[in-house]
Amino acid sequence: MIQTATLSSDASGLAAASAILRAGGLVGFPTETVYGLGGDARDDMAVARIFNAKGRPKFNPLIVHVEGLAQAEEIGVFTPAARDLAQRFWPGSLTLVLPLRAAAGLSHLVTADLPSVALRVPAHPVARALITAFGGPIAAPSANPSGRISPTTAAHVLEGLGGKIAAVLDGGPCKVGVESTILSLLDAPQILRQGGLAQEQIEAALGAPIIAGDDTSARPLAPGQLASHYAPNAGVRLNATLAERGEVMIGFGAIGGDMTLSPSGDVVQAAANLFSSLRAADDLAAQRGTSRIAVAPIPNIGLGRAINDRLSRAAAPRS
Ligand code: AMP
Ligand code: MG
Repeated sequence: MIQTATLSSDASGLAAASAILRAGGLVGFPTETVYGLGGDARDDMAVARIFNAKGRPKFNPLIVHVEGLAQAEEIGVFTPAARDLAQRFWPGSLTLVLPLRAAAGLSHLVTADLPSVALRVPAHPVARALITAFGGPIAAPSANPSGRISPTTAAHVLEGLGGKIAAVLDGGPCKVGVESTILSLLDAPQILRQGGLAQEQIEAALGAPIIAGDDTSARPLAPGQLASHYAPNAGVRLNATLAERGEVMIGFGAIGGDMTLSPSGDVVQAAANLFSSLRAADDLAAQRGTSRIAVAPIPNIGLGRAINDRLSRAAAPRS
C-alpha cells in the first residue's frame, strides 16, 4: 500500500503529478469523459503498474493521450481522412486507432504489442495541462478497478484505487461521463466502441456511413485474437522448469534461462518485460536455428494471470 495524495489542479499540483509520471508512477486525472489512470506510455514498468493497479485480467491495449495533432503524428500514421477527423474533433471524445509508427518509442505493453495505436487528445483543461507539463504521451484507461464502473470524480478514484496509485489530480466532476468513441481507421472506418461523440457526427464528417458495429459485435480486440497480433514464430512451451535440448529458455524468479522476465520473481516487472522478452527469445531461437521457446511457470496471482493469459495464447497451436 502507498499513500495516495490528492493534488489540486493548480501549477504546483500539476508539477507534482508530472514528477510522479516521470518517475514511472501513476496519477489519476480528470478528462472530459471519465477520470483516467495515467502512466508514461513509453515506460514498460509504468504501463505494467497500470494493469496491476486496475487488477486487469488481460493485457488489452490502452488509449494513449497526447497534447495535440503534432504529437499524435509522431506516434500514429495519419491519412488525410484521419487528419481531417482529428482537426474537427480534437480535443474531444474521439479516439482514433491508427497504424503505429515503429520509431514512436511506446511501450510494447501499451499497445498489447499490436501494430496499431489508439490516440486521443482530451478536451479537459487539466488533462491537457498535465500532458503538456509531463511533455510526453500518457497511457490512461479509466481509473477504476477492473470490472467496476468508471469514476467521474476524484473521490470515486480514491474509493477504487486509493492505496494503489501515487496521486489523483482533483479537477472536479467530469462533464461527459461516458468513455470516448473509438474509431478504427486501420481498414474501412469502424466504430470499436460507441461513446461521447455520436456516430452520425463522424459519418457527416467522413461524408459516408460507417460499418455498423457496437461494443460487442465489432470489438474483436482481445489482443491475440487479432490476426495481425504479434506471436512468436517459435513454438512456446509453458511451465518449464528446465530447458530441453534446443529450447530458448525464458526464466522467472529462481528459474533461470537465456533471459528472465524477473530475476526476483516480481509479476509486475515480468509484465513489463513480457513482450520484449518474447521478441528477444524469438530472435535468439532464429539465430540458433531452433524453433522452440520454453517459459518458466508464472504464479497465477495478480498480474501473473494476465501474463499467463497472454502466454497461453502464444503457446496455442497456430495454422
Ligand atoms: P479503454 O479501456 O478505455 O482504455 O479502451 C481501450 C480500447 O481501445 C481497447 O479495448 C480497444 O478496443 C481500443 N484500443 C486501444 N488501443 C488499441 C490499439 N493499439 N489497437 C487497436 N485498438 C486499440
Ligand atoms: Mg474502463
